[in-house]
Amino acid sequence: MTSLRGCITARKRKQRVDFRRLWRWERQSKAPLIKDEWPHVAKLILEFEYQHALLFVPNPDAKTIELTPNEQAFFDYGCPLDCFQGEFELTNAVYSMIKSGEVERSGELVCHGERMGSGGPINCGLIMTYKVKVEYKTDT
Ligand SMILES: [Zn+2]
Repeated sequence: MTSLRGCITARKRKQRVDFRRLWRWERQSKAPLIKDEWPHVAKLILEFEYQHALLFVPNPDAKTIELTPNEQAFFDYGCPLDCFQGEFELTNAVYSMIKSGEVERSGELVCHGERMGSGGPINCGLIMTYKVKVEYKTDT
C-alpha cells in the first residue's frame, strides 16, 4: 500500500498539500473562546515583529493583535511570507503564561517552512520577535 506521504511527495511541488496549514485551520475551528478557557482574562495583546536573515529582502510589517474574551484562544499564526508549512506557534507560551499568572513575556521564534528561492526551495528562516501581554480582570 502506498503511503499518503508518498503520494504527496510524488506530485509536483506546487501541488503539495500543506498539511500543517490544514491542521492549523482544523484546530482553529475547534479552539475555545478566551472567556470559556480563562474567565479571568480581560484582554490579550500580541505584538509581532519580523526579520529576515537576508538583508536584501524587505521585512514583513510588524503587527499587533488584540484579543478580547469573545475571541478564540488560538495562537498559531501562519508565516506572513506564506511559505510551505511555515508557522509561528505561540499556543504553549500563552497557555503557560496564563497558568502562572504572568503579565508579559517576549521571545523569538524562527519559521521552519520552505520557500522557493531563485535556485530552488530554501528554508524560510524568518525570525519573529514576539511580545505577549495578558490583562487580567481585577474583580476575580
Ligand atoms: Zn516562513
